[in-house]
Order: sequence, then structure tokens, then C-alpha cells
Amino acid sequence: MIKHDVVIVGSGLAGMRAALEVCKELDVAVLSKVYPTRSHSGAAQGGIAASLGNVESDSWEEHMFDTIKGGDYLNDQDAVEEYVKAAPRVIYELERMGCVFSRTADGKIAQRSFGGHSKPRACFSADRTGHAVLHALHEQILKESKSIKIYSEWSMHSLTIEDGQCKGIVVSNIRTGEVEVIQGKAVIFATGGYGRVFKITSNAFASTADGAIAAFDAGLPIEDAEFVQFHPSGLYRQGILFSEAARGEGGYLVNGNGERFMEKYAPSRMELAPRDIVARAEQSEIDAGRGGGGKGPGEGFINLDLRHLGEARIMERLPQIRQLGIDFIGVDCIKDPLPIQPTAHYSMGGIPTDMFGQVIVDSEGTHMPGFFAAGECACVSVHGGNRLGTNSLLEAVVFGERAGKAALEYARKTGFEKINESHQKTKVLKVMEEVYQSDGTESYNDIRNEMKEIMMANCGVFRDEDRLKECVDTLQKLQVRFKKGKVTDKGKLFNTEIYEILELSNMLKMAEIISTAALNRKESRGGHFRTDHDKRDDENFLKHSMLSKSEDNSIDIKYKPVVITKYQPKERTY
Ligand SMILES: Cc1cc2nc3c(=O)[nH]c(=O)nc-3n(C[C@H](O)[C@H](O)[C@H](O)COP(=O)(O)OP(=O)(O)OC[C@H]3O[C@@H](n4cnc5c(N)ncnc54)[C@H](O)[C@@H]3O)c2cc1C
Repeated sequence: MIKHDVVIVGSGLAGMRAALEVCKELDVAVLSKVYPTRSHSGAAQGGIAASLGNVESDSWEEHMFDTIKGGDYLNDQDAVEEYVKAAPRVIYELERMGCVFSRTADGKIAQRSFGGHSKPRACFSADRTGHAVLHALHEQILKESKSIKIYSEWSMHSLTIEDGQCKGIVVSNIRTGEVEVIQGKAVIFATGGYGRVFKITSNAFASTADGAIAAFDAGLPIEDAEFVQFHPSGLYRQGILFSEAARGEGGYLVNGNGERFMEKYAPSRMELAPRDIVARAEQSEIDAGRGGGGKGPGEGFINLDLRHLGEARIMERLPQIRQLGIDFIGVDCIKDPLPIQPTAHYSMGGIPTDMFGQVIVDSEGTHMPGFFAAGECACVSVHGGNRLGTNSLLEAVVFGERAGKAALEYARKTGFEKINESHQKTKVLKVMEEVYQSDGTESYNDIRNEMKEIMMANCGVFRDEDRLKECVDTLQKLQVRFKKGKVTDKGKLFNTEIYEILELSNMLKMAEIISTAALNRKESRGGHFRTDHDKRDDENFLKHSMLSKSEDNSIDIKYKPVVITKYQPKERTY
């Protein structure tokens, strides 16, 4: 059995930042199913928020208010306050680690506008911010190689909870297929989001809900799963992201008739309204037949027009976006608009934690000893019902650091408890063996495509009771069909087919959790919009949902109150 004081799953911003905290005193393992710098954090484009006030005066109070209004008042305000206050320090720390930020003419860190932020607050490295931050953190990790051991291309399969306490994880080495138990005094999950359950998504292939489902299977709840963010500017039909920075720099959204339609939906903020509002506006235009291209179901796009920004600004501030357009569809945004549509982008929900990254199991805030989570897989909840752009990289760094500190504190006082290694290992081996031996009539690829299709059509930007019921029903049937799948590659070495099937199993469960939560939230708030309940209902639904596995393997729903400190819920207009 492998042992480390603290075990971290995930090497995106949250996992790496946590490791840098723990390694100050203890020995730490960082496990990632992809090479560490291929984590999805590296794909982040537009920026990381902090009220530095380098372009216009700003304050943490304004950042806090914007975040809460943007989240449609579902955010836990005590956590938001801590997080926005930490932001400026975090940016300067990243800078000192070597993160190269773009600059103003007088040499300060430049800041651009982003949706829902009332001030230019996004610090950025052109449109490759995630790449810059991830590599700065990775360099620090490499410096600490004495106390940080990286398990690159290892997969976590399950979370070990025994005697009411978290004791480690069961993993396998993707190269050999060998299964091992890693014991830790504390475990931190930083496994990212789960956008891959949708057909159109900006997310990396690794964003498949493994962390959330390992926690769910271990009996822990998932908070606010119904809140999925659809980003307004995904490449038409493919979902690849064109950062909101394009609109932050002044880009327009234009429908098929050549109209800047945001005037009708958010007259004061226009293209820079929060993402939930812009995505709904786009989808409404498309659904009303005012998109570009075809008019049938799933057809139609919006144009992202950057031509008026001019070549010099595009090349300085948005070089990656331009290249993506050229590489994927042969459109150069200096000369032509880019066709876009809403794309599943970010998971507001996740494993419930307090503001120190400690995982909680119920509405009373009871801790699961030894288990921590941070970044997109966690729900603190600083984003409430809708995350503002650039607030997520910030969340990953701030709460990565906090979870690292809390895990260090916990592990310092804890010994390696007795763990039932063979039982934990056997459970995972059995699941893997079932997949290896699967010789049924169903195609896993068909099941995956049908899941993505129904999630996009029935649990997307617009939802209603009938469509959500059909969605849950379909997902349950797909899980039955999954048991009759057929594997073609039975080898042990680098068998990516097996891992994709295990990921599909996680995604099917996650999709059911998302759509069940959406079915039960009979109101519209943030990223969750019900055409049959199109108003926010604070009286009945100003609360977090907590979904967990019940005794009979169905899904049990409970709720948790929202923490409100400074800002009482108000109507949300832009
Ligand atoms: C295209 C794109 C652009 C974005 N742009 C911005 C932006 O400009 N600003 C902003 O604030 N936010 C942005 N976001 C959101 C932001 O990037 C993410 O929310 C954030 O980076 C998540 O970081 P993380 O550390 O939580 O997880 P990730 O970076 O997603 O890392 C997850 C890690 O978990 C590991 N992992 C997962 N499952 C397993 C398993 N079973 N076994 C082993 N390892 C596992 C993966 O290998 C990976 O290392 C963007 C997101 C996307 C998709």
C-alpha cells in the first residue's frame, strides 16, 4: 500500500495550489489522470478577478456585491467576503511566482471588463490566462519535488471512508492498469467540473465528474447540481470556447438579421451582462428563428463580431481566439464574425464544503473528517446560481490554498488509521473486471452520445417539467443499457477504452443528479431556467439542494440554508 500524509486528486489550479501549502510541512501526493499541465485550468482564457483598481477605482465590497447579484443571491455571503478580500493578495503572489500578466501602459497589471462585473477587474495574460497561472504553479511544484510526489496519468476510482472518517483513495496506474490503495491522513479532491455530460461543451475530455461521483458513492451529498453554466460563446456545433474577453474587449453579438439584440435583454450591460442572461438571450433569438444558418431543432447560431476592434488589438489581446477560429473553421475574426452558440461550461454545484475547504455532509455543516475539496468540483458556494467570468480561477487558487492549509492542520494531528486495504481494493477490481468482461450487445459510444444529446436538449439553457422527466427517465434507461455494454480492447496496458467506460459510468450518474435536481427546483434562478416556473421564488427556493444516494440506490433530496450577511435578495436587472 502506498502512503502519503496528504493525498490530492487533481493537478489543476486548485490541486497544485493546495499542494504548495501542504508541502511546507508534510509529504504530499498529487494524482492526475492527465499530465498535470494538461488539466483543464490550462485552457482558461479570459482572466482572473481581483479588485486591484488598476484601471478604475475598485473595492472588494463592489466585487462582493457583483458576485452575489451575478449568482442570483444563492451565494453563501460569508464565503464570498473572504474570497474577494483574498483576491488582490493572490494575484500578487501569482505574479511573484512568475505568472506573466499583461500590463497597462504605465506597467501595472492590466485589467479588462467581464460580464456582470461593474469594474474592469479581470487580470489576464492575453487570452491564455489559465495557461500562464497553471505553468507558474507547476514550476513551484517542480521545485518542491522532495515533498511533493506527482502521480501523472493515474486515475482515482473511489474514496475510502471507514469508521466515519476519510482514509484514502483507490487508484490505478493508467499505464499498467494496476490497482492500488493510497492511504492518506487527509484527502483533497480538486477534480474539476463535469461539462462533458453535455453534447456542446467547452470542457476538456477529463471533466467527467469522477470526483463528485466518488464522493456521492461514498455516501456524501452533491450540492446545487442543477446550476450548470452555459457560456454564451462556444463555437457553433463544437462548443470550443471563445472567451468572454472577446466581449470584454468590445465585441458585439449580432443575430441572423444583423441586429445587436442584447439591447432587448440587458439594455444597461448589453453584451457584458452575466452569462446566464446572455446565453438565454442568444437561445431565445435562435429559437425564434432569428439565428444565422439553419432553422430546425439544434440549428442556428449567433455572430460574435470583433472586426471593429481592429487587427492590432485582436493580435495583442485575443490572439488565441483568432487562431482557434482559423484552425477549427477557417474563419479569421479580423475579417469575419465567428459563429457561436451557448456551450456547457462550468459546474456551479459540487461537493459541499465550508469556506476552509472542509467537506460537509449535511445542512448542519457536519464535517467529514479528513476529506477536503476545492476548485470546480467543490461547492463552497461562492458562485450561487451563476458564476461571473474570471471568478473561477480565483476560486481555485483561493480555496485550493485554504483546503491545503486545513488539510495540513488536520493531518498534523492525525495518525495513519487502520484501513481495510483488501476490501477497498477488491471493490474497485470487481467494477473494473466487470467492464473488462463486458460482452453485451450495447455500444458504450451510443450510450454516451444519447446521454449528451438528451442533456443538451432537455436539461440545457431552457428546461421544463416534461422535458426534465423525460431526461431523468432516459438516463435511468441508459444506465440499464450500460450494464449490457461491450468492450473491444481487453488489454491491460494504456487501455483508454476501459477508462472512458468508467468515466461514462460516472457521467451517467452525474447527469441523473443534475436533471433530478433541476426537476425539483420549481423556479428560475441564475443558470437554472424553467419555462414553466419562470420567476425566482425566494420564499420556497432560497436554499441549496443537497442530493445523496438513498438506501435503495435512488436519489434523496434535502436542502441547506443560504448564508446571507450583507446583501438581502433583490430583483436582478441589468
Ligand atoms: C475553455 C475554458 C475557459 C475558461 N476560462 C476561464 C477564465 O478565463 N477565467 C476563469 O475564472 N475561469 C475560466 N474557466 C473555468 C476554470 O478554468 C475552471 O473552473 C478551473 O480552472 C477549474 O480548476 P480545478 O483546479 O478545479 O480543475 P481542473 O483544472 O479541471 O483540473 C482537474 C484535475 O483533476 C484531475 N482528475 C479528475 N478526475 C480524476 C481522476 N478520476 N483521477 C485522477 N485525476 C483526476 C484531472 O486530471 C485534472 O488534473 C474556463 C473553463 C474552460 C473550460
